[in-house]
Amino acid sequence: MTPEFLHRLILAVADTVIAHEAELTALDQAIGDGDHGLNMKRGFEAVRVEAEAMAAKPLPDALRAIGMLLVMKVGGASGPLYGTLLMTLGKEIAPDGSNAPLAMGTAVAVVMARGKSQLGQKTMLDVLVPVQQALAAGGADLASRLPTIAADAAIATVPLQATKGRASFLGERSIGHMDPGARSAALMVSAACRVWEG
Ligand code: ADP
Ligand code: MG
Repeated sequence: MTPEFLHRLILAVADTVIAHEAELTALDQAIGDGDHGLNMKRGFEAVRVEAEAMAAKPLPDALRAIGMLLVMKVGGASGPLYGTLLMTLGKEIAPDGSNAPLAMGTAVAVVMARGKSQLGQKTMLDVLVPVQQALAAGGADLASRLPTIAADAAIATVPLQATKGRASFLGERSIGHMDPGARSAALMVSAACRVWEG
């Protein structure tokens, strides 16, 4: 994990999120309050500014710093949850990233505790959990398989009824739309995997 690699990873994730602002906004307009695109863009623009300094830090410190920035800048429900994910990942991961599947398992569990949420409630967890499970299962070509796993998991939120977050206020009317947080999680996973694959 060189600073150059980490820098490319951070920029790829930030640029992807920023480039999909309109789509995330549209998804959140359908079943939320329409701020997810702007929330995420604001957060990742702040990350972009700090990307080089963050990439110079050891991996655990970099992840913690990004997580703290997301908590401060993204806001909404998603900021504290994505922030918690990355801060916990930073706390748990080895400097060489070798225990990433285990660290991700803990981080996803802490997000669940923080959000008082679980799989199947039409949230970001519907992508984060299957991605974490695939990471833990390991196997060949993980970096090329994970984007499809994440994208399919986001699509699988369409027929679900939301029972957590703002979308749950809509009850049955939340059915038939993709969850914005599931989509942003899938975008971040795909961007990170593209850099990882090289
Ligand atoms: P807000 O809902 O406060 O407007 P955002 O629009 O930025 O915040 O984020 C909405 C996303 O946050 C949802 O699409 C969902 O994926 C995620 N989310 C909301 N509440 C929870 C929760 N309790 N647990 C997990 N994810 C959640
Ligand atoms: Mg919103």
